Amino acid sequence: MMKTISEILSALGIPLDKVEGKGLTVTSPVDGETIATVEIAGTEAVDAVIAQSKIAFEAWRAVPAPKRGELVRLFGNKLREHKETLAALVTLECGKIYQEGLGEVQEMIDICDFAVGLSRQLYGLTIASERPGHRMMETWHPLGPVAIISAFNFPVAVWSWNSALALVCGNSVIWKPSEKTPLTAIACQHLFEQSAIEFGEAPEYLSQLVIGTADVGEQLTKDKRIPLVSATGSTAMGRKVGPVVAERFGRTILELGGNNAIIVCPSADIDMALRAIVFGAVGTCGQRCTSTRRLYVHESIYDSVVPALKRAYSSVAIGNPLDEKHLVGPLIDEQAYTQMQNALALSAQQGGKLVGGERVLTDQFPHAFYVQPALVELADAATVQTETFAPILYVQPYTELTDAIARQNDVPQGLSSAIFTTDVREAELFTSAMGSDCGIANVNIGTSGAEIGGAFGGEKETGGGRESGSDAWKAYMRRATNTINYSRELPLAQGIEFNLD
Ligand code: NAD
Repeated sequence: MMKTISEILSALGIPLDKVEGKGLTVTSPVDGETIATVEIAGTEAVDAVIAQSKIAFEAWRAVPAPKRGELVRLFGNKLREHKETLAALVTLECGKIYQEGLGEVQEMIDICDFAVGLSRQLYGLTIASERPGHRMMETWHPLGPVAIISAFNFPVAVWSWNSALALVCGNSVIWKPSEKTPLTAIACQHLFEQSAIEFGEAPEYLSQLVIGTADVGEQLTKDKRIPLVSATGSTAMGRKVGPVVAERFGRTILELGGNNAIIVCPSADIDMALRAIVFGAVGTCGQRCTSTRRLYVHESIYDSVVPALKRAYSSVAIGNPLDEKHLVGPLIDEQAYTQMQNALALSAQQGGKLVGGERVLTDQFPHAFYVQPALVELADAATVQTETFAPILYVQPYTELTDAIARQNDVPQGLSSAIFTTDVREAELFTSAMGSDCGIANVNIGTSGAEIGGAFGGEKETGGGRESGSDAWKAYMRRATNTINYSRELPLAQGIEFNLD
């Protein structure tokens, strides 16, 4: 596996001057060292990108959808070719372990495959007309330039979920990646451009990249030429982006914070539950939107499950994420570490019993932030209501399942949830209208690690957006209802008479 930035960039064919610009310093969370400096897009440059995107859209929308799918197919192949290299770059830039880096690139490949199939399935309905000699139908049309604003923790997958769909739907795309992960974005853009050359018929500027901080994202959200903004990140970000886009009657897909819970019932397969809880809570160092943050364990098994969990926590291998023996890498930066420590201090004040949470490996990595994942036994308290983007798991016993479900739902966020049970009544209740209020409700698998085939997203302060599989593509298109009169009369709907003579 390649482990240095120059090895990776040269394997991808990216000229080094692309990462030796002025402006944004890129630091690897692996060791806290600077790995690149990249150019930030100024206001005028962003404006030009939007103008170019509009022109590209006008050409792209005329290309038949299955043909558009061909470009996405070529891009998927490019990703297959460079999967290991791109995964190593993901690991180096955002700190997730290499296995998860590989998983992230696989997700990109999967969504490309999905989008290629979709490019032949952008179906509309035909609808029975109440008037004789009339036909009604729905047609789906491309929207225009789509802005994709993404978070650091899925630096490449989130863009691909959006762009693969947006492109087969006939849109152009503009990507504003997290300011913490611009290198993976440069790499994806480079691979996409190579695929576009191979394709031969893509308009110039079909997919563009704008690098910068929140103000670059803000400029995209304000611009009327962009009908759809798909923004992934914190709830605080969504709270700003939502109203700005709504004010100009643009559309958003908001994919925001989660506060995900697992309920473990008396009949659960405990070994399976333990594996799912540990992967969900400590995987990606607790930095997934779907990370498991709360655990409700039935009181009859609480005293066996919680000690077993503590044992599993103490044996998890923490260290350099590029080394395949480690299961937990670092936090993204010092700010994330401070937020974690603040949340732990608050939970202690609120009566929490804490195991773990301390900084580790400081001799080996004095400038990086590796932590022992924390487990806090704490009844519902104010801290449990917030998403701290770090490996903190709040554990609580429950007596009645209906009460556990109510407590699970009693947080502002609504992304992912899971129940471990072998009792069909409990499983069905959990997935019913009286059960979990989240966008994802699983039985006997954890809260994280969704497949691309389903629609992904959550309710309440998670933003309500859906992307990826199922019929999420509809959000990237506009719907037209067409009524066609092939008769020689002009009957009005609802039987209205309107005779001119
Ligand atoms: P963040 O909110 O700090 O930043 C996300 C992106 O938004 C960045 O590109 C940032 O520059 C941009 N941004 C910030 N303010 C903006 C503004 N006013 N206008 C336009 N753009 C703006 O999030 P982060 O720390 O990178 O990522 C972690 C968060 O993302 C967590 O809350 C996590 O749950 C969430 N997340 C959600 C999903 C999901 O699908 N629901 C997926 C991944 C991450």
